[in-house]
Amino acid sequence: MALFVKKFGGSSVASPEKMRHIAERVLKDKKPEDRVVIVVSAMGDSTDDLLHLARQVSPRHYGREMDMLLTTGEQVSVALMAMTFIEMGVPAVSMTGAQAGIRVSGSFGKGCIREIHPERIFHALEEGKVVIVAGFQGETEEGDLITLGRGGSDTTAVALAGALKADMCEIYTDVDGIYSADPRCVPDAVKMKDITYMEMLEMARLGAGVMQPRSVEMGSRYQIPIHVRSTFTDDEGTVIREKILTEGSKYMITGVAQDADTAKVAVLGVKNQPGVAHMLFSALAESHIVVDMIVQSVREIHDDKTDMIFTISRNDLDDTREVLCRLQAEGRISDVVYNDKVAKVSIVGAGMLGSPGAAAEMFGALGDAGINIDIISTSEISISCLIGEKDMTKAVRAIHARFFAGH
Ligand code: ADP
Ligand code: ASP
Ligand code: MG
Repeated sequence: MALFVKKFGGSSVASPEKMRHIAERVLKDKKPEDRVVIVVSAMGDSTDDLLHLARQVSPRHYGREMDMLLTTGEQVSVALMAMTFIEMGVPAVSMTGAQAGIRVSGSFGKGCIREIHPERIFHALEEGKVVIVAGFQGETEEGDLITLGRGGSDTTAVALAGALKADMCEIYTDVDGIYSADPRCVPDAVKMKDITYMEMLEMARLGAGVMQPRSVEMGSRYQIPIHVRSTFTDDEGTVIREKILTEGSKYMITGVAQDADTAKVAVLGVKNQPGVAHMLFSALAESHIVVDMIVQSVREIHDDKTDMIFTISRNDLDDTREVLCRLQAEGRISDVVYNDKVAKVSIVGAGMLGSPGAAAEMFGALGDAGINIDIISTSEISISCLIGEKDMTKAVRAIHARFFAGH
């Protein structure tokens, strides 16, 4: 008897017909003794539609009320999905995140799953029901509803698979696996049979939106293999696991990622003395703003001022402005320049570790394409360049062509 957690993303549940297709597929694959928990996202673009609706009411971001609003998207999906199964004569029950025992901490819009109390799910499974859980949400200690960040249904699915000790976590989506770049941007990207948690986490962190980074982290922590595959075909997808089973890759890198959700902030002319970086970045951290690339520039040798340049998510731009305006009012910093017309392109691959040529190849590809690099940052298994947003697609294609030529 196996237990499966299957997650279906927004485009997979975009209409009642698609929900029926999913139910038929789940039932076709299910052996009579198998137990199935399904996690669903909000239908189609409905999370974006809800965000748009809120903006019509107020330009301000009301965290608690926003999460109250956004969690309704997934609630619509679970109810309709359960009705679909019941109409087909199969017992099923829908659950919100709270009803499924998903306890979350953190700030609104950025919740982290802390623990899962799966008793109610187990009980429903024992009754022979297909259990359908709302992705992207959970309940705080205070009983508030809270969301897990965009793409958070992936994390709900993997965390549930961990808590239920599922045999497999399957992520059904509108692509048939993980590719060496977003196939919407690079049509000849290479599909992978498998990829390690470590590399997938880095790809996701650097913008490959196919999986929420926290879900990959969760898979690694609980050692749950995650099978990413298409809702619309039966083809095998890509398995994310600890160690890859396929033979060594012939490419120097594993993939190219892109991220347009980035903005550059330059705090100009701050005093170059001990404690300045701490003052600036602790003020941002207190407001839960995650800072990504950081550069402190070198000025003239006798100049006692420095520029601090860093990148953040565009969603945090308003909060960052608020923090920096406060520091300006207190006289702790002077000029600040914001630029949200930037994007980050990255190469990822554990194989880069011992091969010095990867950075040169990447910069060469960008240079040949006439694309200027603004900031460079590296990790053990990735190299990222900040460039102009208008050049993002061109950059990804040029870099991909350089590393995956003639495949
Ligand atoms: P869902 O609604 O099912 O969660 P998402 O839109 O969140 O789907 O994720 C699937 C999308 O991720 C694909 O349509 C694809 O454009 C994008 N994507 C980005 N990078 C990659 C990659 N390296 N491999 C596959 N898909 C990717
Ligand atoms: N509906 C949410 C979003 O659009 C969660 C998800 O799709 O995973 O981000
Ligand atoms: Mg998604």
